[in-house]
Amino acid sequence: ERAQAVAASSGPGRTADGTSVKLLVNLGSSAELATASEVDSEGVGLLRTEFLYLSRTTAPSVTEQVESYGAVFAAFAGRKVVVRTLDAGADKPLAFVDHGEEPNPALGVRGWRLARRAPDMLADQLAAIAEARNRHDADVWVMAPMISTPAEAAAFAEQAHALGLPVAGTMVEVPAVAIRARQVLAGCDFASIGTNDLGQYTLAADRMAGELADLLDPWQPALLELVRTTAQAGRELGKPVGVCGEAASDPLLAPVLVGLGVTSLSMAPAALPEVRAGLAARTDADCARLADIALAAADAAEARAAVAKTE
Ligand code: PEP
Ligand code: MG
Repeated sequence: ERAQAVAASSGPGRTADGTSVKLLVNLGSSAELATASEVDSEGVGLLRTEFLYLSRTTAPSVTEQVESYGAVFAAFAGRKVVVRTLDAGADKPLAFVDHGEEPNPALGVRGWRLARRAPDMLADQLAAIAEARNRHDADVWVMAPMISTPAEAAAFAEQAHALGLPVAGTMVEVPAVAIRARQVLAGCDFASIGTNDLGQYTLAADRMAGELADLLDPWQPALLELVRTTAQAGRELGKPVGVCGEAASDPLLAPVLVGLGVTSLSMAPAALPEVRAGLAARTDADCARLADIALAAADAAEARAAVAKTE
């Protein structure tokens, strides 16, 4: 029992059976870098690069970006870093891009779609990530936000590969991508489920609307169903599928996500020790059973209560 408790408090994520689940941290600014890198994790599962672009009047130069990404790769030397390309859009407007007028910014030209208007910005960013990766000989994966079709996923992966980035994947934030996960994964290297946006678009509930928090709850069975569809496609194709939205920070939900088939969880650094402990307390069979219990529920509150009752 003591050995189990020690195993649960440090080292790689594992279920009680020893099945590996990569535990990674989300990172959104240089200020968080020192504390985040000290956490016992397998690396960064989501580097939000918006901090380099927002609240400034010109795009960051390639040189400046190489420095910033390099600082992250150095702090996480020997560990994996998943860099997400810029996720700006009409609700996170950039001073140096003409965003036009959008009545529904969440459904507008945001994330990867911005490359339609400003293709050089994405090309520069990928070139900077590739250069920083070479300098630090780092284990760097890149992924694009707000991908909607298998063709977009394949185009992004091709562009990244051509620039010397060997591992390129897709965020799963749009229900169409989860529904077509097999085709999406056939054209790229991995998928990372952004449950915040996937929940917003699946339940048709604005993630900024506090009043709709019950619909945006990551325990919503409809959202979990799409997690399963995506993870199962990953298993069939032998490609990693992780979760990097808030759902991954919930120690009770983590075993459910693993039961649905995901292979990694990326979360707020402070949440990691409890998530590690939550996983270590469940066998693989428990995880599978908890996933079925959550999927059978009528809504998020019922799913959470039913899983909590098994503890
Ligand atoms: C998500 O949508 O779940 C996600 C991780 O991206 P962000 O929260 O930055 O939109
Ligand atoms: Mg998102």
